[in-house]
Amino acid sequence: MTDRLRISLQKKGRLAEDSFDLLRKCGLRFSIRGGGLLARVKNMPVDLLLVRDDDIPSFVANNASDIGIVGENVLVEEQLSSKSPLNAKITMRLGFSRCKLCLAASTTGKVQSPADLNGTRIATTYPGVTARYLAEQGLDAKLVEMKGAVELAPSIGIAESICDLVSSGATLEANGLAAFETILESEAVLIQSDRELSPAKADILAKLMNRIDGVLKSAETKYIMLNAPKDAIEAITDLLPGSDAPTIMPLAGQGDLVAMQAVCTEKVFWETLEGLKALGARAILVLPIEKMMS
Ligand code: ATP
Ligand code: ZN
Repeated sequence: MTDRLRISLQKKGRLAEDSFDLLRKCGLRFSIRGGGLLARVKNMPVDLLLVRDDDIPSFVANNASDIGIVGENVLVEEQLSSKSPLNAKITMRLGFSRCKLCLAASTTGKVQSPADLNGTRIATTYPGVTARYLAEQGLDAKLVEMKGAVELAPSIGIAESICDLVSSGATLEANGLAAFETILESEAVLIQSDRELSPAKADILAKLMNRIDGVLKSAETKYIMLNAPKDAIEAITDLLPGSDAPTIMPLAGQGDLVAMQAVCTEKVFWETLEGLKALGARAILVLPIEKMMS
């Protein structure tokens, strides 16, 4: 039997779709149907273990899977709340599912800043990270552990503040709350234990990580094509965001113009295009790059 790399992923929720999407962009073909725990990748020796996100760090630590994709917030929380240190660490940051773990309270209540937390109650689903913050800051507050709907805690009178994940802040606002402190910033991460993989699995993982790297890079990278006056070549090259030497080609029948093409590894904003145009560039095209390998 061939060695198959097993990846733990969130089955359903805020991480799930983007994780599946990333793997599909890496060329993995699979279908997630019904309530199955395991999905087989058809064109690579990889199996997907579909679970709740909270279980992913311990599955990786206990060898139920080789690697996992999980929110950094969940990894840190599981590390802090597990009895013995978990053998799971970040191998790669994935850039999606960015959010923050914040302290928040009613805009009209008595808790408006971290110093006001002393002697109060904080409702949270992240007791480990919250307790670590309180200890680091020398604050003394009681934690009220909840499994969800933390934002309701102040209005039902079980806590003066909450510690919860925030992305836009809309949920907080809808409940009359506002964040006053960020205690952790998070994004999706690839995690692994420090156990050595079999050579076959290590090969698959190396290939997968190389592809993930390519997908992440190509998301920001664009191919720019434009026509430019010869005397503006230098100024235009300076303005192209994060590009190496551009390709420069003559244009038939137009002695004073050249065609320029470059790969830009940083975000290309409208302002950049306006700047290029002001330097005399015309017929500017910005194209997405589907795959990259260097
Ligand atoms: P499960 O049923 O798997 O336990 P859950 O309810 O604990 O799921 P989700 O709400 O699906 O978790 O969130 C999963 C992860 O997505 C979070 O741990 C966090 O890393 C990230 N996340 C949470 N909220 C947001 C958000 N508003 N924007 C972006 N990412 C978020
Ligand atoms: Zn969860």
